[in-house]
Amino acid sequence: MNIDVYQQSFDTGNYTIVDSYSKALRRINDNSTVLCSISGGSDSDIVLDIIHNVDDSGKVTYYWIDTGFEYQATKDHLDYLENKYDIQIKRIKPKKSIPVCVSEYGVPFVSKYVSEQMMRLQLHKFQWEDEPLKVLLERYPNCKTALQWWCNAYYTAENGVQQMSRFSINRNKWLKEFIMQNPPDFPISNKCCEYAKKKPAKQFIKEMDADIEITGIRKSEGGIRSANYKSCFSESKSKGCGTYRPIFWYADGDKRDYEQFYGVNHSRCYTEYGLKRTGCVGCPFNPRITEELEIIQKYEPKLYTAAVNIFGKSYEYTKKYRDFVKMMKSKDKEGNL
Ligand code: SF4
Repeated sequence: MNIDVYQQSFDTGNYTIVDSYSKALRRINDNSTVLCSISGGSDSDIVLDIIHNVDDSGKVTYYWIDTGFEYQATKDHLDYLENKYDIQIKRIKPKKSIPVCVSEYGVPFVSKYVSEQMMRLQLHKFQWEDEPLKVLLERYPNCKTALQWWCNAYYTAENGVQQMSRFSINRNKWLKEFIMQNPPDFPISNKCCEYAKKKPAKQFIKEMDADIEITGIRKSEGGIRSANYKSCFSESKSKGCGTYRPIFWYADGDKRDYEQFYGVNHSRCYTEYGLKRTGCVGCPFNPRITEELEIIQKYEPKLYTAAVNIFGKSYEYTKKYRDFVKMMKSKDKEGNL
């Protein structure tokens, strides 16, 4: 066991860091086939540093999913990481890249869940009508979940129709009203998440017969990704291995402490472009997509042109929706609704 790196972590004076080293040592030692997912983002940089420090036998396999639509700065950063740590990061290509998925299935809009429900409704040729759930269930059979989302209600034979707040369209203010007034004339889908990210990772985990997969999710990052987890470790039946999140409990201050003490450098996406986070390039789910697009246009202009070609319909529709929300809010304020 690499005790020295554990002892050294005490010099950080940060218990969250010490604790992460203690747990990382145990996870690496207790498992034989260990995979570590690298994204090129700042959280992933810290995870890689921890794991590389504790992995004295070099058993960990590092991999990166190439979605087919990536920042040049991210690709350059992967080369930098390989040199810095003297490791290989396997580049995994999906069967269907993001541009291919979008052209085959449709553009993402608002969020993964919203896109999924809208995709299902479109597949059933839904006309975006405002009718009670029972009427719609008869009109569009085999589309129950999406119709429940649309109607903010669920139906059981025992209790009939009940109001639903979670998983309902009302979670996105004025979205239903907006869609009814502006029905989408283009396909919407969340399939790129599935084909360009989830499936290739799952397949690689299966091929490697991994015992454990390591990722860079932090609780404090917020959003659905971290809300799905309660602690730094979970077993996943669908993936067929455990998932370990070494920096799950790191707050932003812990990240800063770590970066300073261990000398972690991030990609140009952060240091030069000024991005705060690096998810998929130009993903329409990003609430700050307008600012991100300005940055992409400045620093990676070819990627900007491609992003507009791929996601343009969603950008326009999202802008229209946001303007609609603003208008409804001000009407509401003035008592004109
Ligand atoms: S995060 Fe956005 S761009 Fe990336 S795969 Fe999912 S929907 Fe597509």
